[in-house]
Amino acid sequence: MAQDLFQHPDYYQVDDLLTDEHKLVRDAAREWVKREVSPIIEEYAQKAKFPKHLIQGLGEIGAFGPFIPEEYGGAGLDYISYGLIMQELERGDSGIRSTASVQSSLVMFPIWKFGSEEQKQKYLPKLATGELMGAFGLTEPNHGSNPGGMETKFADKGDYYLLNGAKMWISNAPFADIAIVWAKNEEGRIKGLIVERGMEGFSTPETHNKWSLRTSATGELIFQDVKVPKENLLPEADGLRGPLTCLDSARYGIAWGALGAAMDAYETALRYAKERTQFGKPIASFQLQQKKLAEMITEITKAQLLVWRLGNLRNEGKDTAAQISMAKRNNVEMALKIVREARQVLGAMGITGEYPLMRHMMNLESVITYEGTHDIHLLITGYDITGIPAFK
Ligand SMILES: Cc1cc2nc3c(=O)[nH]c(=O)nc-3n(C[C@H](O)[C@H](O)[C@H](O)COP(=O)(O)OP(=O)(O)OC[C@H]3O[C@@H](n4cnc5c(N)ncnc54)[C@H](O)[C@@H]3O)c2cc1C
Repeated sequence: MAQDLFQHPDYYQVDDLLTDEHKLVRDAAREWVKREVSPIIEEYAQKAKFPKHLIQGLGEIGAFGPFIPEEYGGAGLDYISYGLIMQELERGDSGIRSTASVQSSLVMFPIWKFGSEEQKQKYLPKLATGELMGAFGLTEPNHGSNPGGMETKFADKGDYYLLNGAKMWISNAPFADIAIVWAKNEEGRIKGLIVERGMEGFSTPETHNKWSLRTSATGELIFQDVKVPKENLLPEADGLRGPLTCLDSARYGIAWGALGAAMDAYETALRYAKERTQFGKPIASFQLQQKKLAEMITEITKAQLLVWRLGNLRNEGKDTAAQISMAKRNNVEMALKIVREARQVLGAMGITGEYPLMRHMMNLESVITYEGTHDIHLLITGYDITGIPAFK
């Protein structure tokens, strides 16, 4: 890839709303992405390979559990900082952001929120550095948008729980050391279990031939009579609210992350349009290209204000799941539209690996589907404003 010249657009001086700490955290993440991610990411995406060597650096910049208190190895930062880190990572690549999202919001968050003190001490500090990596198993072959229908189940065998079932489309699965697995007990209640690699009957085959999120490893979690020690049950998680609370945290980060991909696309298109000449003029001088660029910066600005406000609500503990759904849905769709438009501004060059646009575009096709599809988030807003669930 050519030199990474990224500077984020800030049309409404949103930076003035950030603290010095926020800017410090964001700039450190940005520098790390420029140094470690941008030079190698295209090659890894072409090969559909997860750049495992980035794990240590992700830990060092605080991308694993930024909001987890320092006593458990986290960075003890607020949710705006978490969002800004996700923005910078996804500006580099959605696959790298996905790895950090899963580790932070779907593995560390449930252990912190629903785990015992022993579980927190045992796992969180190692997850914060990347010494341990985790996965989150909710989706199943027959249950995606409707996780409450899950078939994975466990039975109390006195000394241990016996776990059976299968999860699919699981980020980080092929290399994860532990998995937070959501399964039903004998009463049909959804509970969370910490399953460790090496437990007999537990396997994690990789999913191949993805055209999207090619730098993120995806796989299955298969449980065949896995004996899970009783101390690996998350004591405070009960019912679907458990996994959904984790998804709120991850979706919040995705709303920021998608913004990063959109910013990268806008910046790339703007720079190219000013440099590329056709009919004797820079293509940026043509109204049709200006329309594209002007609409991009307008949408980015609206999305920036949306997540900034959401982050403040979340810091104050006043955010709702429906507000997060709205932000995730809006910002991912916004990013996908901007990346598609930016790709066109670059003409044929836009389809090459010289520029990040096709990679962002294909990545966002997963981002618009995982953590609740675009449709499902719309139905959540519909339910919230009418009081009528239209899911079934
Ligand atoms: C790359 C990738 C990584 C992922 N990582 C993880 C992970 O780490 N952990 C995990 O647990 N899951 C993960 N997922 C799974 C993801 O969350 C699911 O794919 C998603 O929830 C949708 O489920 P589904 O694919 O089964 O689609 P389905 O639920 O079958 O939906 C198919 C279509 O039907 C629509 N639809 C469904 N129900 C309704 C309804 N009631 N009304 C209207 N339309 C409806 C949907 O919007 C969608 O358009 C990942 C997925 C991908 C692609």
